[in-house]
Amino acid sequence: MDPLKRVEKELKKCVKCGACRAHCPAFAALQREPAVARGKVALSQHLLKKDIVLDDQTYLAMSKCLLCGSCVEKCPNDVATDEIVVAAREALAQARGLTTFHQAVGRVIRNRKLMNFGALAAAILGPLFFRKVPASSGLRLRFPLPFIGRKRHIPAIAKKPFMARHPEIIEGEPGKPRIVFFVGCMTNFVYTEIGEAALALFKHLGCTIIIPRDQQCCGLPGMSGGDLKTVRELAERNLAAIEKFQADYVMTACATCGGALHRFYPLVVGKRNPELKARLDAVAAKTVDAAQLLVKLGLKAEETGAGEELKITYHDPCHLRTRNITSQPRELLRAAPGVELVEMEGADKCCGLGGTFNVYH
Ligand code: SF4
Ligand code: SF4
Repeated sequence: MDPLKRVEKELKKCVKCGACRAHCPAFAALQREPAVARGKVALSQHLLKKDIVLDDQTYLAMSKCLLCGSCVEKCPNDVATDEIVVAAREALAQARGLTTFHQAVGRVIRNRKLMNFGALAAAILGPLFFRKVPASSGLRLRFPLPFIGRKRHIPAIAKKPFMARHPEIIEGEPGKPRIVFFVGCMTNFVYTEIGEAALALFKHLGCTIIIPRDQQCCGLPGMSGGDLKTVRELAERNLAAIEKFQADYVMTACATCGGALHRFYPLVVGKRNPELKARLDAVAAKTVDAAQLLVKLGLKAEETGAGEELKITYHDPCHLRTRNITSQPRELLRAAPGVELVEMEGADKCCGLGGTFNVYH
């Protein structure tokens, strides 16, 4: 079945008003109709009718979406453009095959052992291929590699992944919430300090923290290339890993993983499978961001920092902002002793990274 058939109803809802033009980061950068939600909807309608040539231009136009959800948030007709783009990319992948890059991405994210091995190899061999650059900005490649520009900064891989450092269940105090920690690949392999900080704070609050051993990548890197087979497989494996523990909350410290569990799994994976959708909805209803849960559980100001004098600004990740999680991170920062929170201009603007989007564009 044509994946675009799944979103036929959404396609019909678009009245071509163009309100999305004011909110789409791809349009802001490119100022061209194919970049904006309205253009993507029109293109998808033609793809469904099969009255358009599937050439490189079509593929390129559909690739220029960050799946940020800003258009969905602001659309007066509630058109789920992100769902449409995902379906169109799946249709294009079915027609033309996955790119070599996305085939490789799919192979890696489906295989946790391979990821663990790759991360270990990268941590050990990294110094040979990368050199440190000043101003704590990360690492830079010594030798050229396809898809990676020489001027790009690459974050270092942790020597030991977050999940390898902790047991599966960390018992808390009786009567306190049971939390499944959906760690996500970036927290597990790169920004382990985020995982450690979340763990320390929820331990401090007496929660039982469960880090399911069987959890996998959320699958969104595959979704951006139209590899829905991988996304479905990973969603079902994650669902089973989470359901096993009957927790009160499913907590993420990564905006995109939260977006996967909260929006994309029920929307994209649950479609046309009511039983699976009900299970995915149940997990989505329990999914919370770390900042959201810390505020909800009443973390006190004096517990949030060491009192160091810091001036901090905060940027809203799209996958938190479009889920209305904007006040809680600021609330925590304002409460931290010694911290002065200064609002930046354009805090709500997409960063442009968009998973594998930044590799191509
Ligand atoms: S996607 Fe929504 S905002 Fe954009 S043109 Fe269609 S109806 Fe208007
Ligand atoms: S999801 Fe974001 S990048 Fe894609 S069309 Fe909508 S606003 Fe533009």
